[in-house]
Amino acid sequence: MQFRDLKTQYQALKPQIDSAIQSVLDCSEFILGSPVAELEEKLADYVGCKHCITCANGTDALQLSLMSIGVGRGDAVFVPDFTFFATAGAASILNAHVVLVDIDEKTFNLSPKSLEEAIKRVRAEAKYMPKVIISVDLFGLPADYPHIRRIAEQYNLKIIEDAAQGFGGKIGNQRACSFGNLGITSFFPAKPLGCYGDGGAIFTDDSKIAERLYSLRAQGRSKSSKYEHCEIGMNSRLDTIQAAILLEKLKAFEHYELQAVNEAAKWYTECLSETVRTPFVPDGFYSSWAQYTIMLKNTETRDRVQCELKKRGIPSMVYYPFALHQQKPYQGMGRSDAEFPAAMRAVKTVLSLPIHPYIKEEDVYHITQVILKNA
Ligand SMILES: *Cc1c(COP(=O)(O)O)cnc(C)c1O
Repeated sequence: MQFRDLKTQYQALKPQIDSAIQSVLDCSEFILGSPVAELEEKLADYVGCKHCITCANGTDALQLSLMSIGVGRGDAVFVPDFTFFATAGAASILNAHVVLVDIDEKTFNLSPKSLEEAIKRVRAEAKYMPKVIISVDLFGLPADYPHIRRIAEQYNLKIIEDAAQGFGGKIGNQRACSFGNLGITSFFPAKPLGCYGDGGAIFTDDSKIAERLYSLRAQGRSKSSKYEHCEIGMNSRLDTIQAAILLEKLKAFEHYELQAVNEAAKWYTECLSETVRTPFVPDGFYSSWAQYTIMLKNTETRDRVQCELKKRGIPSMVYYPFALHQQKPYQGMGRSDAEFPAAMRAVKTVLSLPIHPYIKEEDVYHITQVILKNA
């Protein structure tokens, strides 16, 4: 059994994908060929944003977003303590000051209450300028944007939505990647919409920021003249081949994959919700299920369940075994486990189960039986 079955997906889409790749080979426009702009237009349309700027990966998308609004030394960037390392790393590499914030117990996403406390603390200390909130749509579920946006407005902060795992998620009819001043996603193969290598994208409604992002992804070059540069940028582009693949994968994603993965999540929840803590999706929210993550009663149970699954050839993962404040680059900030009770509880008890649009109901049933016997 596969944790995220990319082989079955390829077999289902093989004729279209093979021909998309072949057509790029035939025209040989490997960098910024026409499929790249076509994809950017389709993605912007899907998300409901004016602009989409593709780039080399999700981490670059975060870094470019921060650069586009001038984040650097002296600025405080608020980041959830429980996320993939890149969310914080992208800010630290620009010498910004990362302020870690505890998560909500139920959703695993940024806790608005802890966020507001952290902003007040940083303001009172007056050492760093509160500038940006990077909120993460962890495991596919959009963060609490109605609440986070109110806080951002009150304290005059910008929001970058890290939807690397959240592409396809919704609150009401509004889609993920559109909830902040900027939104980013990743096309790493195992993400909800993945390519066959690395890739990423940034979304914004702000035309000035979009202009700057096109420049920043190409060494800060000027719009009018190719070898004239207005600022220091990066070299971060999405390959034409990846764009051509994504154009095909986006069709399948829209037509049936997103529904299929939601169906799979429902099968899990129906079987498991009385025995373990199944993912909480608030009313009006819709997840794209990058992960289906349960919580067991303690670490011992979690490890035993994982071991029993493994014995039967069922892969499972601990996303994440460490909170960010426990990671070496952030240990020096002197934050203790006690300041992040929800993140620590997650670290100790979470387990992510196989989920993808091609998983069969009988596989889910088989997995849940092992969990029910051992939880
Ligand atoms: C995967 C991921 C990223 C980074 O994306 P890459 O394409 O791997 O660089 C950033 N944030 C989160 C939450 C992620 O899951």
